[in-house]
Amino acid sequence: MRLPIILGALLMSTAAPARDWKLVIHGGAGVIERGRMTPSRDAEVRAGLRCALDAGSAVLRGGGAALDAVEAAVKVLEDDPNFNAGRGAVFTDEGTNELDASIMDGRTRAAGAVAGATRTRNPVSLARKVMEDGRHVFLSGDGADRFSREQGLAQADPAWFATPERRRQLEEFKAKKVSHLDVEYKYGTVGAVALDDEGHVAAATSTGGITGKKWGRIGDSPVVGAGTYADDRACAVSATGAGEYFIRLGVAHEICARMRLVGESAEQAADAVVDELGKLGGTGGVIIVAPDGSAGWSFNTPGMYRGEASAAGATVAIYGDED
Ligand code: ASP
Repeated sequence: MRLPIILGALLMSTAAPARDWKLVIHGGAGVIERGRMTPSRDAEVRAGLRCALDAGSAVLRGGGAALDAVEAAVKVLEDDPNFNAGRGAVFTDEGTNELDASIMDGRTRAAGAVAGATRTRNPVSLARKVMEDGRHVFLSGDGADRFSREQGLAQADPAWFATPERRRQLEEFKAKKVSHLDVEYKYGTVGAVALDDEGHVAAATSTGGITGKKWGRIGDSPVVGAGTYADDRACAVSATGAGEYFIRLGVAHEICARMRLVGESAEQAADAVVDELGKLGGTGGVIIVAPDGSAGWSFNTPGMYRGEASAAGATVAIYGDED
């Protein structure tokens, strides 16, 4: 199903002095409408988003680094089975969970990413290890799993990631024979962007990908420049949506480049690229934070799980019509 562009742009933009910390998170974009959410699921998702904001905010409030804050927030969402990352990841066509994640430090533009990891409890931390190790930027499959063990990261049995609801979704997906990028069958991704009180930005994204993915398919989430990018000279971005389109547009880097080279604001750059995404037929959204304190989101789906925190407080939202 192709959606009309319901929300060309929804970005709350708050200009603030450079040294006020900010955290923005997402838990995926898609056909997220009031009529499709039960009250209990609505409450669980909001509680999960709040926990993630709390974890990241605790780091930033204590004067910690944006990089630590995005990892902390994403780890909470990875452990929460309501979101498609870590525990609760969607299933591949073969009935397995293959996890993708990336992280980037805007201070140095160091980055780390993994695709098709199967054993690391928190894939975002594996991406960070890849970054800190520094020999490579992007590891995949067995190699990523081996590196994870060698680095002593917490391992999990495949059963940890698998939930009955995701298995049901795979069965429904197969029975209905719909497209992999059908927005009705996309169940999110998680991500965080942060600005710390030293003015540095960072971004992280983690996902199980898309239901029924085949042949070692890799989406945008672990692709630096597509699903994740951070550059202190521009902004930090984490994306969610139909990964194939985000890769083709280089969404996260494109937003940063527009700010840095063309001088667009965070809001202008995010809205312009999400608009272009929609024109190609892609659905999804981004979260963004810039060193000047501008922060928010832009998406073209009916809803996006999202939240924002600063010293002034925290808010979470699900539907397109919430601020
Ligand atoms: N972007 C993710 C992927 O394509 C999926 C999502 O965000 O819903 O793997």
